[in-house]
Amino acid sequence: PVSIALQRKKETKWLPTRCRDENEARFKRVLVSGGAGFLGSHICRRLLAEGHEVMCLDNFFTSTRSGIADLMGHPRFEFIRHDVTEPFFCECDQVYNMACPASPVHYQWNPIKTTKVSILGTMNMMGLAKRVKARILQASTSEIYGDPEVTPQSEEYWGHVNTIGVRSCYDEGKRVSETLAFDYVRMQNVDIRVARIFNTYGPGMHPYDGRVVSNFILQALQGEDITVYGDGSQTRSFGYVDDTVDGLIRLMNQDKTIGPVNIGNPHEFTVKELAEMVVELTGSKSKIVYLPLPGDDPKQRRPNITRAQKLLDWEPKVELREGLQKTIEYFKALDLRKFSKPTA
Ligand code: NAD
Ligand code: UDP
Repeated sequence: PVSIALQRKKETKWLPTRCRDENEARFKRVLVSGGAGFLGSHICRRLLAEGHEVMCLDNFFTSTRSGIADLMGHPRFEFIRHDVTEPFFCECDQVYNMACPASPVHYQWNPIKTTKVSILGTMNMMGLAKRVKARILQASTSEIYGDPEVTPQSEEYWGHVNTIGVRSCYDEGKRVSETLAFDYVRMQNVDIRVARIFNTYGPGMHPYDGRVVSNFILQALQGEDITVYGDGSQTRSFGYVDDTVDGLIRLMNQDKTIGPVNIGNPHEFTVKELAEMVVELTGSKSKIVYLPLPGDDPKQRRPNITRAQKLLDWEPKVELREGLQKTIEYFKALDLRKFSKPTA
């Protein structure tokens, strides 16, 4: 009888999920690390809209309370202030491990911490997933391809990454997070998904995160010079946030562990073309100026999305022009006093 009692006690840990009836089982308890950030907050909103319970874990390193102000007080939303490099335990069915500074300006501010977030943060989240048998989606990045020698980049390409450059803390950190994810499958049978996310933009971006879309739109709206780094011939493929989030949620809910999946828009633009489009769409009088190219800046980036198309029945719907228009409207309405500019 003692062991049965103990067994029951153990089982109660699982009660919230296991004791649900069939109807309730559709709804999950989901942990979103980095949930106050750009992508994380969109994921939280989508999950809440679908009826799930959401725990948002964040230390506000690159985000602010205002980014999730609309979610505070929601009956199925809970915010936990926590640094993902420290262990964390909770009961949940799914984990989106999004916590990590993503903009070069942010991740280069404290590069050692960035590497720690990718390694320790991933180990902590994988360990949690293992313990409670949750499915976990690891946010990886197109940066794992480095400065690619092949285009478009398919998941089979192993990448071309400098191990000791200014971007390495992010690129190599994310490469290790992928390695960890697949070792957690091999050793511990953890149910993982790995998304290689390409440059994503849209409403909800931090105005001072230093990324190209936010910089250009803000500069254009304020009549400042548009700062193109290098000669602007480097390319990026920009994915609208709703498309990216849709791809991530589909990947999470896809039935079996598969290799990494590129989530991005295959339409490629030069940075100069982006600058010209922003000037045109904002009707700005700003002029384009050319500044030195930062170290290790990749020359090209374009995803091959065949795997996502086949496995997830997913492809992006919002093209750059339309997405930029929506993003410009967001920036026009933004109260910039709520955001602090980064200090050197
Ligand atoms: P973001 O900076 O807006 O959000 C990251 C969030 O993680 C922030 O809220 C930040 O405070 C939080 N965070 C950082 N360090 C943390 C820590 N130690 N503990 C807890 N929380 C921490 O960035 P984003 O664009 O939303 O990116 C989210 C994820 O997606 C990142 O893992 C990033 O590498 C990945 N990704 C993003 C893009 C993109 O274009 N947005 C592209 C590829 C990959
Ligand atoms: N970039 C630029 N001007 C800016 C910010 C960025 O020309 O004000 C360039 C940057 O050098 C890179 C591209 O835009 O080639 C995308 O930069 P971002 O920081 O958005 O993301 P990355 O893809 O480099 O991680």
